[in-house]
Amino acid sequence: GAERTKNVLILMSDTGGGHRASAEAIRDAFRLEFGDEYQVFVKDVWKEYAGWPLNDMERSYKFMVKHVQLWKVAFHSTSPKWIHSCYLAAIAAFYAKEVEAGLMEYKPDIIISVHPLMQHIPLWVLKWQGLQQKVIFVSVITDLNTCHRTWFHPGVNRCYCPSEEVAKRALLDGLEESQTRVFGLPIRPSFCRAVLVKDDLRVELEMDCQLPAVLLMGGGEGMGPVKKTAKALGETLFDERLQKPIGQLIIICGRNKDLASTLESLEWKIPVKVKGFQTQMEKWMGACDCIITKAGPGTIAEALIRGLPIILNDYIPGQEKGNVPYVVDNGAGVFTRSPKETAKLVAEWFSTKTDELKRMSENALKLAQPNAVFDIVKDIHELACQRDSDIFGGNLGLAEMTSAQRSR
Ligand code: UDP
Repeated sequence: GAERTKNVLILMSDTGGGHRASAEAIRDAFRLEFGDEYQVFVKDVWKEYAGWPLNDMERSYKFMVKHVQLWKVAFHSTSPKWIHSCYLAAIAAFYAKEVEAGLMEYKPDIIISVHPLMQHIPLWVLKWQGLQQKVIFVSVITDLNTCHRTWFHPGVNRCYCPSEEVAKRALLDGLEESQTRVFGLPIRPSFCRAVLVKDDLRVELEMDCQLPAVLLMGGGEGMGPVKKTAKALGETLFDERLQKPIGQLIIICGRNKDLASTLESLEWKIPVKVKGFQTQMEKWMGACDCIITKAGPGTIAEALIRGLPIILNDYIPGQEKGNVPYVVDNGAGVFTRSPKETAKLVAEWFSTKTDELKRMSENALKLAQPNAVFDIVKDIHELACQRDSDIFGGNLGLAEMTSAQRSR
């Protein structure tokens, strides 16, 4: 019934692309919005393949890796639907039992996929088990623009698209308009709900209180031309004539420890802070005036919320490519791979072209969707309520049902 705590299973994978950040954002938003009404499990399907969906067979791992390679290749080809359907069907048939056990262990009332490869197999399992009417299945797409077609499955109850561009692709791929919603990319609630004052943050983070600040990063793994860009900024943000800095630099290296220690050992003419993985990105972004990053969807969405103009200096081929025009065409930033050009641009923004910086900041705020994660969980909640009233009497819980299925 409606009073029972509902189980939510989020299928993610820690393979970049901000899937973990999105999964955790959704989990936190459920807790904030609905408290004990929902119990949320986040399952890393790649790392924990020992549990789901592949069990602990070495053979199965190799089998999967082969398909992952295939998928990478397929990304750049036209990737006709029947190809991925066929090999996903093969995997599903091969692992049906493990997949089923893995899914049912959590007795999910709701399954949320935040991974491009996690629609087909779980949906098949639900179908085989006759659970389609009982379990709500939704996809939350974590690419801002050019996402892979495996994201789209007409069998979902909802497909949450971060942008209109993605929603258009969903419709082209056979989803109904009633299945899609465009709320934005889900960002950690700590990020979107924070009320932050730049001056206070600068004090808290022990930054210079006067100088404009540029934040340099490369996703969770510290990827892209971070080192070269840092060096270029170190030169360009120092005014040789006046012998003083015109800006300060914050470098967040994420989990890239080598990068952090290399940068720490350098000498700088301007104020520089080098940091490893940070848990309070909203504060660093709130304290800075612009950001340089690879085109990760998470970082971009967060920067937009903080109104930071963005210099994109790299992207992961495939899924991140489309994030570039998303930012550039909307006037919220620029793309350049050249560290020299990046540094020159920042120096201009901090001196002669402050207007441009301001305009881009305004455009960034226009694109920002800080409430996306709450809109998404509220919509899922509505789906769950509807389903409750649809199911006869509203009392047939999944627990009874799966045991009925199992005793078959
Ligand atoms: N991030 C963080 N601490 C760090 C570096 C990165 O919390 O030190 C977060 C960042 O705020 C963003 C995510 O990691 O939410 C990176 O996601 P993105 O999609 O930008 O790139 P990915 O690393 O997943 O390729």
